[in-house]
Amino acid sequence: MNKEIPELYGSMIFSDKVMRKKLPKDMYKALRKTIENGTHLELDVANSVAVAMKEWAVENGATHYTHWFQPMTGFTAEKHDSFISPSGDGEVIMDFSGKELVKGEPDASSFPSGGLRATFEARGYTAWDPTSPAFIKDGTLYIPTAFCSYSGEALDKKTPLLRSMEALNDEAVKMLRLLGNETVTRVSTTIGPEQEYFLVDKDLYKKRKDLIFCGRTLFGASAPKGQEMEDHYFGSLKPRVAAYMHDLDVELWKLGISAKTKHNEVAPAQHELAPVFDTANIAVDHNQLTMEIMKNVAEKHGLVCLLHEKPFEGINGSGKHNNWSLITNDGVNLLNPGRTPAQNIQFLVFLMAVIKAVDDYADLMRISAASAGNDHRLGGNEAPPAIVSIFLGDELTAVLESIENDTYFGKQEKVQLDIGAHVLPHFVKDNTDRNRTSPFAFTGNKFEFRMLGSSASVSTPNIVLNTAVAEALSQFYKELEGTKPEDMETAVHELIKRAIRKHKKIIFNGNGYSEEWVEEAGKRGLYNLVSTPDCLPQFITDKNVELFTKHHIFTKDEIFSRYEILLENYVKTIIIEARTMSEMLTKDFLPALGTYAGETARHAADKKSFMPSVSTASEEALVGKLSETYASVTEGISQLAAAVSNAESLTDTLKAAESCHTDILGKMEELRLAANAAEALIPDSILPYPTYDQLLFSL
Ligand code: ADP
Ligand code: MG
Repeated sequence: MNKEIPELYGSMIFSDKVMRKKLPKDMYKALRKTIENGTHLELDVANSVAVAMKEWAVENGATHYTHWFQPMTGFTAEKHDSFISPSGDGEVIMDFSGKELVKGEPDASSFPSGGLRATFEARGYTAWDPTSPAFIKDGTLYIPTAFCSYSGEALDKKTPLLRSMEALNDEAVKMLRLLGNETVTRVSTTIGPEQEYFLVDKDLYKKRKDLIFCGRTLFGASAPKGQEMEDHYFGSLKPRVAAYMHDLDVELWKLGISAKTKHNEVAPAQHELAPVFDTANIAVDHNQLTMEIMKNVAEKHGLVCLLHEKPFEGINGSGKHNNWSLITNDGVNLLNPGRTPAQNIQFLVFLMAVIKAVDDYADLMRISAASAGNDHRLGGNEAPPAIVSIFLGDELTAVLESIENDTYFGKQEKVQLDIGAHVLPHFVKDNTDRNRTSPFAFTGNKFEFRMLGSSASVSTPNIVLNTAVAEALSQFYKELEGTKPEDMETAVHELIKRAIRKHKKIIFNGNGYSEEWVEEAGKRGLYNLVSTPDCLPQFITDKNVELFTKHHIFTKDEIFSRYEILLENYVKTIIIEARTMSEMLTKDFLPALGTYAGETARHAADKKSFMPSVSTASEEALVGKLSETYASVTEGISQLAAAVSNAESLTDTLKAAESCHTDILGKMEELRLAANAAEALIPDSILPYPTYDQLLFSL
């Protein structure tokens, strides 16, 4: 590496430093104001920024620009336009205007719209998001944008996230004022998403249609060794993996993505990357980019990066931990228990707001992590259960209990609590971060939402969280409004007391993987929405529609369109998996099984004629087993085909999704078990696709 890291870091983003250097002072100031306060950007400023951006991009080798956006596919989208503009004399100049920077007009008709397209125009537009820095990748200037239909409906994952950040900012600032804080003018959400992934050899990958089409293996006998030795987690990095991780870090650093931590994960061939947290909007963009760059860099190393939630049966799948907190513009983390009573009051109110939000909208939290892939993890003793609950840790739970019961926390004798906030200890992070089975854990100065799937955008969970917390704050505001400053501490104390009584059912500090918890959660009346089709209908309930429309995150149409898109996506995913499984079993697995059965039978016949005294019982038993499997797999394939046709014939998307869940996945599971049992008998040399042994242990 010829550049020092600090110089390399962020060298491919249109950073604040570049802006300051390239923009006239007044233009720079106007842009900063927009970025910091979300104020409207005038066209002359946009023009000035466009010129500066183009100049910088061209200096750094860019020839094209693209409006980069995040449609409902879950991936990012881009269409590249070059800067060239004919100057009339057969020559070209490199040109880029404020109008081109601010707005693009891609055809929206080929992106998922969940019915919005039918009602509104097919045209869509992309609008520059100046709060997320533009960057250069592969010779193109990328401009982060929001993507909307022409009549303004959000068709992407950024628009509602920005709206939810605004909603939370409004409610949080209002609350802080009420609590006597006169200085804060803005509150932002911060996110640090920890990303898990698998690496497999590219040549092996190319031989498995299931990995290519579905991102996961649909069958495969377990390797003799799995993760039981617990030797992979934090284990030393294999040279090929280390080289990959190094290049990945460098590529991310160039784009100002602060990749910080990397290590081997629990399962063989599984790894994790965590960045330093950032503002929600930037963190979401960065996570999308990280996933993309993980795949690209892998390619260069003869590897494939698997982001699927469950690439291999029998070992852990991959998730994403969404660390979430709130920060004020003067740098205070609102979820950091402070050292002074005033800070503690703030902390208690915001902490309680999060607890209330998660309890009131646990169904939406579950939905925000729902996908066909993640259904394989949640509740699978490797990831949190599908039941949303909160882990607070013993100390904080005791604090809230003491407020609830008017007992003095931290002292032996029970004393009337005058101000709950006085007695808050300053939490040491390590005291709290020990429960790995909780879907939503307080970890000292932030919450960690652990239900997310590894492949999904982190946008939706944060939209839900931001909005639900905004709503909780707005309800608390109503309760506290009009209180005299001198009575505020008592009022807050009473508020917390009421709230904790109502919402303590969501708090659970025990083992989330246990059977007892499922039973206990049922008694507490918590949701246990096991699968995607189970939880999605909650999205469109009155309670949830009201939440989103009240805070202007989604219109009712947008909610229904998203509901439809999520269901459709689920159905399509399962049907593609079913088709891939049929094809692999028919074209790869059964012929191999037939070949081996034939070989074994011939071997037995040879044995009989040349070595009549030696028994052929084992060969005959093997042929028997193989033919049985052949018959049952053949039968299973035709049953699977019938289940697929049935699901495809259903016009109601929810019914189709339910049929995918129960019928198709059920049949696929039977087939998987039959194929796995037979595969364990067939020599690797005869199998036309790589086994788990090879995929997981070859690097
Ligand atoms: P682990 O959860 O593995 O113990 P850490 O707790 O150190 O790891 O950090 C996990 C992630 O949480 C990192 O991405 C880190 O930047 C992020 N994080 C730390 N503080 C905050 C915060 N205030 N808001 C959001 N994310 C944060
Ligand atoms: Mg973590």
